[in-house]
Amino acid sequence: MTTQPRRDQLRDNLNRTREAIAAACSDAGRSPDSVRLIAVTKTFPAADAAALVELGQADLGENRDQEAAPKAAALAAAGLHPVWHFVGQLQRNKAKSVAAYADWVHSVDRAPLATALGNAASAHGRSLNALIQVSLDGDTARGGTPVADLAALAETIAAAPALTLKGVMAVAPLGWEPAEAFALLARCSETVQRVDPGATEISAGMSGDYRTAIFAGATMVRLGRNVLGERESMA
Ligand SMILES: *Cc1c(COP(=O)(O)O)cnc(C)c1O
Repeated sequence: MTTQPRRDQLRDNLNRTREAIAAACSDAGRSPDSVRLIAVTKTFPAADAAALVELGQADLGENRDQEAAPKAAALAAAGLHPVWHFVGQLQRNKAKSVAAYADWVHSVDRAPLATALGNAASAHGRSLNALIQVSLDGDTARGGTPVADLAALAETIAAAPALTLKGVMAVAPLGWEPAEAFALLARCSETVQRVDPGATEISAGMSGDYRTAIFAGATMVRLGRNVLGERESMA
């Protein structure tokens, strides 16, 4: 269980973050409901995640299956069913586990992973919303597909029965201006929409750069520290 002071802190952080997102939308000439907040609960306990859901935060994100699977199970056991977004690099052998609880996977970056997720979702009788993670600088070691491979991967995902292609995701590369990164991601989104016009989601923006991402058209921002506080170690 969360303590009351922690609950109050999470409520204040959440309110402040929602207001900041609404202000960024307003400054960018966008409707505040055009951006979805995903609270990234990685490294924080299931009790914090549960408290956020009880405070009305429906979308939660995690980046490691080893942590996400038990957290999702703990919330489900408490009768809480947030929309889970898997946002981290994903090994194919974890597809089966992730497909059991995730509603969205933001990090689909290669065809064999897409196929494994599709098969796993089918086996669980579920379907998954898939975003293609783009490696904007081509350094695929940090996850993401090279820009040149986007259309082919989009075709693969669009053809997988248990996957719904929803759009693109990226992390601004180290050393890049976020505005430059997110402008490139917007062009990647257009490439993917030529394969599937319904794939309009753009997952971009973390605690340090979400305003810039909203100006560049992000429809989902993934915020950890702004909502939960500083993490003890980088995950
Ligand atoms: C941790 C993480 C976030 C959230 O980062 P903050 O800086 O805490 O907002 C967003 N996206 C991904 C992929 C992450 O791993």
